[in-house]
Amino acid sequence: MRIVRYLKRRGAKPAWGWVSEDRVGRLDGSPFGPYGRKEAKDHLERIRLLPPVEPGKIICVGRNYAAHAAEHDAQVPELPLLFLKPPSSVIGPGEPILLPPQSENVEHEAELALVIGRGGRWIRPEKAAEHILGFTAANDVTARDLQRRDGQWTRGKGFDTFCPIGPWIETDLDPADVLITCYVSGQMRQMGSTRDMLFPVLTLVAFISSVMTLNAGDVILTGTPAGVGPLRDGDEVTVEVEGIGELTNPVRSEKRQVE
Ligand code: ZN
Repeated sequence: MRIVRYLKRRGAKPAWGWVSEDRVGRLDGSPFGPYGRKEAKDHLERIRLLPPVEPGKIICVGRNYAAHAAEHDAQVPELPLLFLKPPSSVIGPGEPILLPPQSENVEHEAELALVIGRGGRWIRPEKAAEHILGFTAANDVTARDLQRRDGQWTRGKGFDTFCPIGPWIETDLDPADVLITCYVSGQMRQMGSTRDMLFPVLTLVAFISSVMTLNAGDVILTGTPAGVGPLRDGDEVTVEVEGIGELTNPVRSEKRQVE
């Protein structure tokens, strides 16, 4: 099943829904508890999709594909290399990625993301699948110059709009071998398979939960394949994940706000 959050019309309250072909129906309840499905009768084109979840935390994995580590002359980590993005960086499909004035080199990172359905600590790898609600596409937008200059990644990864996710949560996906592709203004930039992850999805859930309690709604970004590159004002960036769909966002320069 494909789970969405959406607005039926301007000013409406955000609702949970499910997608059947090109239509959306309401979910009675939340996907993290008991729910019922209402008839899918609203056209996807006539509603507005929101980020499919509002995560309490976003845990990301750096250098989880050897070819991406190599393009930055970085070592492959012996254990998953974790960092966080703030919940304020999340945007949904179609919302603009804003290029901040502090950076001259903002890049896309197309990734498979997963949404925790049932929380826990010390989750064993063989039990990890039971804690995953489903999967979505994500773009780990990164100000590469600031990431390099700071030596740690909070600023370079943490700007508002730097975490597009969507368009929905696919609950039926085997993440072992799905293609991740990234297009910028129609040009293909990245293509890789989750088969080439150094640490696969279930290992990541187990490892992260050995550090911090995972809660329902938390999102994990599983790393990017090779081919990351710059985003410029006026671009349109699409992350496509096989078996899920496409997440497209326009790119705009952020006007410096003066108070
Ligand atoms: Zn990343």
